[in-house]
Amino acid sequence: MTGTNLSDTFRHKGLRKKLTETVRQKGIADENVLKAMEAVPRHWFFDSGFLEFAYEDKAFPIGAGQTISQPYTVAFQSQLLQVKKGDKILEVGTGSGYQASILYQMGAKVFSIERQRALYTKAKEMLPKAGYLVKTFFGDGYKGLPAFAPFDKIIVTAGAPFIPEPLMEQLKPGGILVIPVDKDDYQIMTTVEKQADGSFITRQHGHFRFVPLLGDKAHD
Ligand code: SAM
Repeated sequence: MTGTNLSDTFRHKGLRKKLTETVRQKGIADENVLKAMEAVPRHWFFDSGFLEFAYEDKAFPIGAGQTISQPYTVAFQSQLLQVKKGDKILEVGTGSGYQASILYQMGAKVFSIERQRALYTKAKEMLPKAGYLVKTFFGDGYKGLPAFAPFDKIIVTAGAPFIPEPLMEQLKPGGILVIPVDKDDYQIMTTVEKQADGSFITRQHGHFRFVPLLGDKAHD
């Protein structure tokens, strides 16, 4: 379980500083994202046997066939969200809870949905112990979270075959959705901005690779 040892040594802090520098050198310029990355102990989101991998700029398996995203990808998506303190943000794909914790660290109110029960349960237990007060939900992210909408920002952390309509509906005017959309065997990082008149502006931001956003009853 990830949350059993929430220690954070000088060594961890040093490795994190280095990782943050790597991510900066790869082009992330949002200082608030970089600060959050330096503050959140990524090793807390790993099973204890794999701690040595926590500060590499790589995705890593977290069980249930899923991954914690590569730090650069987390930073890239967080930067695209243009997070402001107090933003109400919906994340689809809680996974380990790391991305949600980065957004919380940046001052956002974070709601996060996960469809794999084991991952949902693990994150729900671990996040408050670590001090990341993220509201976690078990459910199908394709539907968003209508009871808590609208959101300033929405982030999808799995590769989506299309942009789900409910997520666009649940954005506030001026809001931003960040979603990797399938194209062949990779995804195109896409932003959708809702205008004041309710229309949308869509932009593309390069190629990434994600595990798939799965349908409601595919498996559990
Ligand atoms: N954000 C996560 C983190 O920081 O560890 C990494 C997410 S992992 C790349 C993608 C996650 O999306 C997986 O945990 C997967 O179970 C979840 N997922 C896939 N389809 C989903 C759906 N329809 N609704 C909610 N979560 C979904």
